[in-house]
Amino acid sequence: MNLHEYQARDLLKVAGIPMFDGDVASTPTEAEAIARRVGGTVVVKAQVHVGGRGKAGGVKLARNPAEASECASQILGMTIKGLVVNKVLVVPAAEIATESYVGLILDRATQRPVFMVSDAGGVDIEEVAAKTPEKITKLAVDPRYGLQPHQALTLALALYRDWAHVKAATRIMHQLYTVFMSNGASLAEINPLVTTPDGKVLALDAKIIIDDNELDRRPDLAVLRDESGEEPSEVQARRANLTFIKLDGDVGCVVNGAGLAMATMDLVKYYGGEPANFLDIGGSSNPEKVVNALKIITADPNVKVILFNIFGGITRTDDVANGIVAATKQFKVEVPIVIRLTGTNEAEAFKILESVGMAAMNDMDAAVSKAVALAKEAA
Ligand code: GDP
Ligand code: MN
Repeated sequence: MNLHEYQARDLLKVAGIPMFDGDVASTPTEAEAIARRVGGTVVVKAQVHVGGRGKAGGVKLARNPAEASECASQILGMTIKGLVVNKVLVVPAAEIATESYVGLILDRATQRPVFMVSDAGGVDIEEVAAKTPEKITKLAVDPRYGLQPHQALTLALALYRDWAHVKAATRIMHQLYTVFMSNGASLAEINPLVTTPDGKVLALDAKIIIDDNELDRRPDLAVLRDESGEEPSEVQARRANLTFIKLDGDVGCVVNGAGLAMATMDLVKYYGGEPANFLDIGGSSNPEKVVNALKIITADPNVKVILFNIFGGITRTDDVANGIVAATKQFKVEVPIVIRLTGTNEAEAFKILESVGMAAMNDMDAAVSKAVALAKEAA
């Protein structure tokens, strides 16, 4: 789950990371009032779940409250990378001497939190990573022992030479690590971390992604979800208790179990196709889940064929068959459906499908290659 900058800032603040106090506004009048309260020049920043807001015109400096109102009216309602801006953050502007990047991610390869820091911060860290990777210092933390003082110092020294800056940044590394671990984050990033001409080190931007698996035990974080910035099909799937990730291909996949779903996507690729989604309908299969899954997949205009791959264990294949029949009665499925099922109650399942003129097969390779061929024909 992505947090907005203003939400992420609250978590950084709790940990003591230095930054200016600001507030969030939904109207130009509110923005003006915040600017008046904090005084001086402010930055008005679009609160949307995308990076690169600065370049898109979503970050503007305002010298007084009237300008803050003006900036807010320009930014509110604008669309950045497909997302409409509903809120702006208004915060005192910092004078910037240097801009650094500090990021902490959960690295699946090393199975550890990994810091990435660079003194070439600001916008476009992706470009720095691609073109001049030597400018990024990486450091893995062993979660059993936490971030060690010498590690925090090493990271700070990668950014600064001035001892006051190094000391401040060392503290910030520890604080960011605490934020990351205590909130179940998969990413926590400050870009830019700036130095000011009068020698302070400040966080000017904050990005945090919370691992969705953390949310059941953290209702205080779960309420921060803003669905307006999420892929609509993924929102719908989450409400229906389906594990769903939208992808760019044209073979819609309905599978039970995450491992089989991965194997199915691999096999689609193996036969030269592209999966349109990852979808796990889960272990216990009630027909309702299948109906919801088909609704979500058929709403994707890229989908040219739907491939069911069901291995009946706890999942009863007759439940799945009933779900398919129920769905096709509720709404018209315009694309061909290829069904592979095997296991618990498969004889019943085949009968149910035959009774409405649908065929199923047993063999996974045969089903996947057929689905890929149908998608190619339709393309
Ligand atoms: P992003 O583009 O979405 O990452 O948004 P950021 O919050 O990182 O802002 C982009 C850029 O705007 C920063 O790299 C800064 O150069 C600039 N910026 C942001 N806040 C301030 C500020 O308080 N003062 C000044 N002078 N520039 C700022
Ligand atoms: Mn940024």
